[in-house]
Amino acid sequence: MQDKIQHLLKEIESFVARNQEETEQFRLKYLSKKGILSELFTDFKNIPAEQKKATGALLNDLKTRVQEKIDSFKSSFEAVSAFSDSSVDLTKPADHIETGARHPLSIVRNQIIGIFSRIGFTVAEDREIEDDWHNFTALNFPEEHPARDMQDTIFIEKNPDILLRTHTSPVQIRVMEKMKPPIRKIFPGRVFRNEAISARAHCIFHQVEGLYVDKDVSFADLKQTLLYFAKEMFGEKTEIRLRPSFFPFTEPSGEMDVSCLICGGKGCNICKYTGWVEIMGCGMVDPSVFDNCHIDSKIYTGFAFGMGIERITMLKYQIRDLRLFFENDLRFLKQFTGAY
Ligand SMILES: [Zn+2]
Repeated sequence: MQDKIQHLLKEIESFVARNQEETEQFRLKYLSKKGILSELFTDFKNIPAEQKKATGALLNDLKTRVQEKIDSFKSSFEAVSAFSDSSVDLTKPADHIETGARHPLSIVRNQIIGIFSRIGFTVAEDREIEDDWHNFTALNFPEEHPARDMQDTIFIEKNPDILLRTHTSPVQIRVMEKMKPPIRKIFPGRVFRNEAISARAHCIFHQVEGLYVDKDVSFADLKQTLLYFAKEMFGEKTEIRLRPSFFPFTEPSGEMDVSCLICGGKGCNICKYTGWVEIMGCGMVDPSVFDNCHIDSKIYTGFAFGMGIERITMLKYQIRDLRLFFENDLRFLKQFTGAY
């Protein structure tokens, strides 16, 4: 019986119906009450039990193939008949299709990825729901750090803690747990914080972080990489400055400012008359973070940086209210149709 089915499968495969009538004949041959399939299903009852499983599977396959064949011929003949129907006026103008545009955050995200990919950084992404280890502990956040508080972080479960990631840094941990250096990655993604929504803060925003781990990576490498990024992103004349800062997962840590895009450093209301605007945090990866990921901190060093995509986008396009990114107001979004 199996041989017979195999033979029929081959026959179906090569069958071509030239019109609706032939399709109908094909259907009757296989699927009618006295058709091949009903005959086979009758025979199936009488075969030995040990053959039932394999034969049954083949038989079902045959049935599916027949149905698929009929469906495909039917739809192709219907399409042809609709086309040849004289009531369709082919000279009528086509329906207007409105072209969409990328969201401004996607435009800037893609620009950032493009800039770093030109110097060898590849993209890594991971989950938005994280555990405490990857979001806090492995990154050196002490037990009593305020970020672990319900006021700042949106928890899904407590003990063990499951939460919406507050930054994309857990992806850095996951990459370091899996990969051996050299590592050169950027991490774009959505992050969540328990913030009241205002023109300057939102409970959802987007980050791009970066990580470079290898032998002999120095602070000079970090500075040069960020200078390259700033010039590519904001223009050749852009200058950067690094100020000391603190993060649990980098040592030393810094904040990076770029010369104001609007006034070029002379002072204006965007830069609050300082000539500089802050765009990201950065630093050398703390050796204890390497230890947490089983990377030998005596052999390897590395730098990390992170920026908010909203902040870069607001600076680039002079957007003054963060909420506009999430309201889906077409009057706002349509302004970016030409931006690619
Ligand atoms: Zn300015």
